[in-house]
Amino acid sequence: MSIPANIYKMLEDIVGPEYISDKEYVLAAYRHAGPGGRGQQAGPGAIVLPGSTEEVQAIVKLCNKHNVKYAAIVSLFSVGRIGQPGMVFLNLQRMNRILEINETDRYAVIEPGVRHVQLKPELMKRGLNYPTASVGPGASVLANFITSGDHHMQHGASRVNRYLMATEWVMPNGEILKVGSLGNNAGWFCPDGPGPSLRGLIKGWNGWSGGFGIVTKIAIGLDVWKGPAVMPGEGHSPSYTVRMPPDKHKVYIFKFPTAEKLRDAMLEMGKAEIGNAVLKYFYATECSLTTTSANEFFEVWNSGLYQRELPLALWVYLATASPEEMQYEERVMWDIVKEMDGQPVDESIRKKYDDNIDHMFIIVSFLQRVLRLGGGWAGVKLGGDSVSHMFQVAGAIPEFLNEFIDKKMIIDAPNNWQIIPMEYGHLAHIEMLCFYDVTQPDHPNVMMPLMQRSAETDIKHGFHASTPMASNPAIGPLYSNFNLWVDKIKKAFEPVKEL
Ligand SMILES: Cc1cc2nc3c(=O)[nH]c(=O)nc-3n(C[C@H](O)[C@H](O)[C@H](O)COP(=O)(O)OP(=O)(O)OC[C@H]3O[C@@H](n4cnc5c(N)ncnc54)[C@H](O)[C@@H]3O)c2cc1C
Repeated sequence: MSIPANIYKMLEDIVGPEYISDKEYVLAAYRHAGPGGRGQQAGPGAIVLPGSTEEVQAIVKLCNKHNVKYAAIVSLFSVGRIGQPGMVFLNLQRMNRILEINETDRYAVIEPGVRHVQLKPELMKRGLNYPTASVGPGASVLANFITSGDHHMQHGASRVNRYLMATEWVMPNGEILKVGSLGNNAGWFCPDGPGPSLRGLIKGWNGWSGGFGIVTKIAIGLDVWKGPAVMPGEGHSPSYTVRMPPDKHKVYIFKFPTAEKLRDAMLEMGKAEIGNAVLKYFYATECSLTTTSANEFFEVWNSGLYQRELPLALWVYLATASPEEMQYEERVMWDIVKEMDGQPVDESIRKKYDDNIDHMFIIVSFLQRVLRLGGGWAGVKLGGDSVSHMFQVAGAIPEFLNEFIDKKMIIDAPNNWQIIPMEYGHLAHIEMLCFYDVTQPDHPNVMMPLMQRSAETDIKHGFHASTPMASNPAIGPLYSNFNLWVDKIKKAFEPVKEL
């Protein structure tokens, strides 16, 4: 369904004729069902490509005035943006400027179209870095920072929302709000003031998936980068290597006899503040990321090696500024591993990381490989709480998962869950990932029923493990009735209708 001609004309007046289209062959590209989905979804009625905050604001005001639905998008890699007939997509790819890299106060100011592959190398050259979620190099940094943002390096860092600084936001009513220090013309360095402290409105645990205004600029906090200024990459996809200096970058993988020992090793490494990444990683996911075809995946998976070595394994990535620091971290790590009866896993699994630490930990460029087994991919839980609580949650996973495995609706990988501690173990995230085949007739009975059964176990046990998001109101009572607050906030920001 296209948009009315008069509205199209007014949008064209805002962005210019080059930056708007309702051509069928253009709209078709925006109708894909998202990674893992099948068929086509209802698409937008027009695409506009604004070039500035002022143009975004003018579009939002116009859409409000004429009751047209709109949403911002960048690379559409997300699973959360469903087009609706007749809506307008604001594709923000033109707004792709890195506006400032402040090396002294350690922040970068970016527009929505800036992608990881653009920002990360600029920062590495300067010895700086930021937490990069496993979303692939082509995804928007800003979109990830305001939507989800869990990543593999949270142990030595945190979730990305903790790195979100001052923000420029075109609110749902079309007014521009400068959040944090920016609101008082004090620069970009702080999300909480001087100026309005509304970071939690833009991004709490989760974001709004484009349903609450449009963020046009953000500042993100930066960490130190302990690697080379330029990544030492060789070869071409899918067979390339990134060999980091081995005296300062190492990956170890240890198996533990029980989940409790694994948990305690994780906690002790946090207490000792060693390791850039420390995580219980999903074993089937790892296998799909480190193999180059579905056939190769099944060769490794069906050999039983992963099931034997990795159900209760801890990945440890040590990245240090000097060889001496590496020796210190290694000594502490081995003490902890021995105390918890850990053992190195089969060397063939660990060895892959000598050739490529990048794909797992730095800019997860192989991510789409998880979709190649059967195309279907369902992540459940995705919430967070203490490390110990996350292990309790993991212990109850069989209660809802086994029925899907027994019916052969998902791959037989009962331990394909990850727990990633944050801020050296002060908090942790859990995710269970299930692969399924979208060519099977019962595939629509996988994702939603899995999520529902998972949420039911959380409610039954009082677990804080699912993502508190508007589409999941049943878990509201577990999280201060967040769903009622979401409704109230939406109402408060609703555009005032002109009579
Ligand atoms: C296989 C797979 C694995 C994934 N793994 C992870 C993971 O480990 N960690 C993680 O954090 N995420 C993960 N994701 C989800 C990921 O966060 C998003 O896909 C990614 O950040 C989206 O970036 P994008 O550039 O594609 O944004 P888009 O898909 O274009 O947009 C993302 C969402 O943000 C909204 N949005 C975009 N720009 C703006 C703006 N300027 N203002 C307001 N709203 C806006 C959109 O409407 C949409 O709802 C995964 C996704 C897939 C498919």
